[in-house]
Amino acid sequence: MIRELCKDKEVLSKKCQRATAEDADLAQDLIDTVKSIDDAACLAANQIGVTKAVVVYLDDKGEAHVLYNPRIMMGLRASRVAEGCLTLDEPTKSTRYDKVKVAYDELVDGKLVPRKRDYTGWVAQMVQHMVDHCNGKLV
Ligand SMILES: [Zn+2]
Repeated sequence: MIRELCKDKEVLSKKCQRATAEDADLAQDLIDTVKSIDDAACLAANQIGVTKAVVVYLDDKGEAHVLYNPRIMMGLRASRVAEGCLTLDEPTKSTRYDKVKVAYDELVDGKLVPRKRDYTGWVAQMVQHMVDHCNGKLV
């Protein structure tokens, strides 16, 4: 279901709670919502008003990937970048790594399974932006 974006800074600055397998519907809403917005490639649950650590991004083929409880474990090659955000009017400057190792959970047959994955380039940047959202950071 396509949901309305939440720009409420109070909601967006709350640290998100750990997501569970019960949040599968929320993940689907995130996919539907991000696909409904032109030029949007990633979305965190608190951006639709739910403070759970679930995020989604679209790869360069437009395919959706859901990460539950993502954490950055390690980063390489930091640089300062300006980023825009769907739920913040002004762009912000952040330090982003070109390569990151991310731990997250993936929903498999109704259960969350821990995974680790390396991301590089713009996907790495999106994932770091999403993790900031999960931590209640306004970016
Ligand atoms: Zn954002």
